[in-house]
Amino acid sequence: MKMLAATNNKHKLEEISAILNKLNIEVISMQQAGIDLEVDETGKTFIDNALIKAREIARLTDMPVISDDSGLEVFALNNQPGVKSARYSGVDGDQKDMKNNEKLLKNLIDVPLEQRGARFCSVIAAVFPDGNEITAEGYVYGKIGYQAKGNNGFGYDPLFIVDGYDKTMAEIGSETKNMISHRANALKSFVQKLEIMIK
Ligand code: IMP
Repeated sequence: MKMLAATNNKHKLEEISAILNKLNIEVISMQQAGIDLEVDETGKTFIDNALIKAREIARLTDMPVISDDSGLEVFALNNQPGVKSARYSGVDGDQKDMKNNEKLLKNLIDVPLEQRGARFCSVIAAVFPDGNEITAEGYVYGKIGYQAKGNNGFGYDPLFIVDGYDKTMAEIGSETKNMISHRANALKSFVQKLEIMIK
């Protein structure tokens, strides 16, 4: 099966492709499909936003479409930045990830390690040409460190110390990340639901 990934985030695209290719699904980018559109994420939840993106792009193609809406929930901050993870610092462009991480560290400045628990969340939404839809969620738990460590991944990866690894998500390498991440868990759940749907 071929699916069009409704994302302009090249890191997400790489991760979704790497994970789904192993499960025999070929992933086509928006660029390959000739679609140049930034969908407004106006929803209040990850599920809302994942569906908004997949439905909007599905109107422009005959292919099945898959989207990911994801973010970081920090328990000591009432689950912020949550759905606003991409826009936490209000900065866009190249500096965005660095500014978001700086803001997160500032907001946790006096918080001891045992209270720095967090999880990454991913909701995958798929919209098929016959109108069928699937949503699936996945999580990975960890703690927010005191400084950025590691060069892999993107976003909050350098601050997120993965439970059971004692390393940040940016230190563990893409192969391990793509086995244990929130996105990997959501995509595994999605594929299980897909198998039931097409049986
Ligand atoms: P959105 O799903 O496009 O609204 O944005 C997701 C945002 O959540 C990203 O811009 C990152 O800040 C954060 N995020 C989502 N997944 C990851 C991940 O795998 N690693 C690090 N940060 C992530």
